[in-house]
Amino acid sequence: RRRGHRAGTGDRAEGEVPVKITVVTNNPHKAREIGLFFGGVAEVTHVALECPEVRDNSVKTIAEKKAEYAYQILKRPLICDDTGFYIHALRGFPGPYAAFVQETIGNEGILRLMEGVSDRKAFFETAIAYADGNDIRVFSGRIQGRVVAPRGTGGFGYDPIFEWRGRTLAEMSPEEKNRVSHRARALR
Ligand code: IMP
Repeated sequence: RRRGHRAGTGDRAEGEVPVKITVVTNNPHKAREIGLFFGGVAEVTHVALECPEVRDNSVKTIAEKKAEYAYQILKRPLICDDTGFYIHALRGFPGPYAAFVQETIGNEGILRLMEGVSDRKAFFETAIAYADGNDIRVFSGRIQGRVVAPRGTGGFGYDPIFEWRGRTLAEMSPEEKNRVSHRARALR
């Protein structure tokens, strides 16, 4: 895969058909990361369609249902992302309910739940569902790290409190995060 090129800027051979993919998400941060990932490889269009989220313990099932719904409306090849955050000492909480927990108690609430807890292990899991009308395929990626006091100003969501090899995801540039993240691993 070539990096550092922007799609549609003339580095394609004449007559070559560009790969087109639509990213369906209401989260502009996810759209930006996925767009950056495909930079120079595919033409990425972002549609901020609100997809109903089924309640399920697996982000794979949630992403699959979102893609099924989005395809019925948009009728073109697309991907949907669903991401969970799993804290070992909290038996996997908040897991697939990461969005609700982020909007309610937030990172501060998570850190309060983790006060005095020495086991800091946690992981992110992203499921990327691809729908093209023939079938739906789901890919997933994980990153294992630790819950720490917030550091960094990049990223979004739980990034400031999630450390990987000595740095939080919020301390990384978008390119660095995209080299190691759950989302990038699901997209590869
Ligand atoms: P959902 O995938 O839209 O259900 O959202 C999952 C929740 O996890 C949201 O609150 C996001 O802010 C958060 N989240 C998703 N992806 C990431 C990430 O890459 N880093 C940190 N937080 C994330």
